Parts: sequence; structure tokens; C-alpha cells
Amino acid sequence: MSFKIAIDGPAATGKSTTAKRLSRKLSFIYIDTGAMYRAMGLYFIENNISYEDEETINQVCDDIDIDIYYEDDEQHIKLNGRDVTKLIRTEEVSKYASVTSSYLKVREKLVALQRKLAEKNNVIMDGRDIGTVVLPNAELKVFLTATSEERARRRYEELLKKGQDVTLESVSHDLEERDHRDSTRANSPLRQADDAILIDTTNLSVDEVVEKIEELYNEKRGK
Ligand code: C5P
Repeated sequence: MSFKIAIDGPAATGKSTTAKRLSRKLSFIYIDTGAMYRAMGLYFIENNISYEDEETINQVCDDIDIDIYYEDDEQHIKLNGRDVTKLIRTEEVSKYASVTSSYLKVREKLVALQRKLAEKNNVIMDGRDIGTVVLPNAELKVFLTATSEERARRRYEELLKKGQDVTLESVSHDLEERDHRDSTRANSPLRQADDAILIDTTNLSVDEVVEKIEELYNEKRGK
């Protein structure tokens, strides 16, 4: 039987770095669901569709094909057959993903894809609604948090390393806006599942978080 690990939490709590590292240790498949919402967002940008235009977005959802594949142990994301992995990590795409992920049609499409990918595999999936909606029966659920200052600092450094022209203030503002939107939307808001284990990563290294989740995994497996 396959084992599913769900990792949720607000932006920049270390979900994807942690999930990626843990997936290598456990030989699980890592699925970054945020990348899928980002790829959808990129489609709307490239097709000049405003993120506020829910009606058009609902209409074009069926024209969008999102797929993932793995190369050199890394998840790559395809938008209508084109690899867009490197194009989805901008603040503009973050904003589009954040707003349009509240639309029911967008969520229905991606949740179906995410469930299908998890069907027969041991997976670690990260996002906002994995433990509550996508994989409610996941064997292990973790909810990561960190202070807003620490999260803004992490995201700022990450974007600087990528050569993007941002300020700590703008990054901090964007994160707050996104978290607020994610937590207050009507469809699948960000929230800790009742059976998820909370880990505050503010003062922990990625390796320490990975170790904690690995311990929880071993406990669940009865080792
Ligand atoms: O995790 P990441 O920051 O890449 O996600 C981008 C956006 O996609 C989030 O701000 C959130 O609005 C949305 N998202 C979501 N549900 C998920 C994953 C991401 O609504 N499972």
C-alpha cells in the first residue's frame, strides 16, 4: 500500500525545500502543487487575461494542460507541452496564482490532477489544502509555520539569489497579502487539518525539519 505525506502551510515556511529533501531520503515522489497554480497563472498572464476576470478564466480552464515530469531528480512543470519551470518563480506569477487559485474551476481541475498523481505512488505533496482537501486520508500530515519576519527574510534572500529586483518591504507586503487571501477564501482555505502535526520552523534548519518529519514517518510506520 502506498504512503502519503501531506505538507501544508503559508508561503515561505520551507515546505518545498523540506519536501524535496525528504522525498530524496525516503525515495518518495515529490509533488509541488503550488507550481501547478503558478503554471495556470502564467497561462493567464501570457494570454492577457486579468486575474479578476473569473468568467473568462472559467471558460479557458479546459484549454489548459498542466503536467509534471522528473529530470535529474527535479520536478519540472509543463504548460500545454512547454517546460515553464523557470518562468513561474516571479512575483507577478505569485500574485496571479494567489488570486486565481481561489476560483472553483481552477481548483477542481488541479485537485483532480493531484489526486491522480498520488493514486498509486508513495508521495510527499505540499501546498495549502493537501491535508484538508486533496489527500484527507494521508497517513502523515504536517503543517509548517514560521514568523512573518522570518518568512519574508527567507523569500527575499531566495529572490535576490535569483537576481530579481525586490525589496524586503515589498516581499513582506506580498507575502502578507497572499497569506490573507489564501486563509480567507471560500474554496479550500489554508488551514491546519485537525490531524496535522504543527512544526514551527522559525528557528530550525531545513535538515532539522526534515529529521522531525522523518521521525514522525518512522513512528507512523511503526519502526
Ligand atoms: O506554494 P506556492 O507559493 O508556489 O503557491 C502559489 C500559490 O498557489 C499560493 O499563494 C496559493 O494561493 C496557491 N496554492 C493553493 N493551493 C495549493 C498550492 C498553492 O491555493 N495546494
